[in-house]
Amino acid sequence: MRKKADLHVHTTESDGKYSPEEVVKMAVERGLSALAITDHDTFAGYAKAKLATDSQIEIISGMECTCDFEGREIHVLAYGFNTEDESITSFAQKQKKLRVNRAEKMISKLSNMGYDLDINDVIAESGTWNISRNHIAKVLVKKGYASHTQQVFNKWLGNDLPAYFKADYKPVKETIDIIHNAGGVAVLAHPASYYSDQDIQYLIDCGLDGFECIHPSHPYNLQQKYATLCDERGLLKTGGSDFHGFKKSELTTLGTVSIDYDNVHVLKQACHKNSNELTI
Ligand code: AMP
Ligand code: MN
Ligand code: MN
Ligand code: MN
Repeated sequence: MRKKADLHVHTTESDGKYSPEEVVKMAVERGLSALAITDHDTFAGYAKAKLATDSQIEIISGMECTCDFEGREIHVLAYGFNTEDESITSFAQKQKKLRVNRAEKMISKLSNMGYDLDINDVIAESGTWNISRNHIAKVLVKKGYASHTQQVFNKWLGNDLPAYFKADYKPVKETIDIIHNAGGVAVLAHPASYYSDQDIQYLIDCGLDGFECIHPSHPYNLQQKYATLCDERGLLKTGGSDFHGFKKSELTTLGTVSIDYDNVHVLKQACHKNSNELTI
């Protein structure tokens, strides 16, 4: 049987349902050979996952970085970086503060719209202070203002909707530089149909190392589009389930929406090359 990897998974360190330890256990049970925990703007799950493995599965450091691309909020996946690196650690700390501030702004918008909501409820829901829009959505559902979180995103919290607030995220180029300086590689998350050819060229010029080809939002034609682009340009191909663990439809994605382990091997080589270039 071919070795498989899932390089896009969330845990309780951001907006996922299961702890890093639980996710590692599930990934082992589902026969994966490698796993990257890619929480939003934090890699706090990495050390916990490493401790939970007993080497049944390879853990790659990961983080889904939120950054700015021409005024739009986009996600760049960082892999294989040194988790002790000062600038990437400081990046994650700053993002956490930015997220608290942004949550306060969104809550204030919701309060002005007549919804009774407190930042402390949202902090408690997050459990970590690493606040995601999903945590605000959950509190609104618990208070009976919506029947499910998707409704909250569709009505209020989705990008550019009335309770949305755009934080002052770092530009994508700066984010890619931080990842490279920490010896890692930067991969565009779930590109789907969100980027023009010109955007893609700009991102490659910024130093982007690869594209997430396999993602639940990508039908076969998009998987092929990005795989061909990566093959033609010598870029890394990654993939994963983007598992959060809350939806019924996700129950089988961890372990099935995955990539061949060969891609992890290539990714690791790219990380080594990157670190060597910096230390020479
Ligand atoms: P945040 O990192 O706080 O901006 O939240 C981003 C997360 O919220 C995504 O990873 C999804 O889990 C969720 N999300 C964002 N937009 C939507 C949407 N339109 N519908 C459902 N979930 C969404
Ligand atoms: Mn999420
Ligand atoms: Mn994302
Ligand atoms: Mn994600």
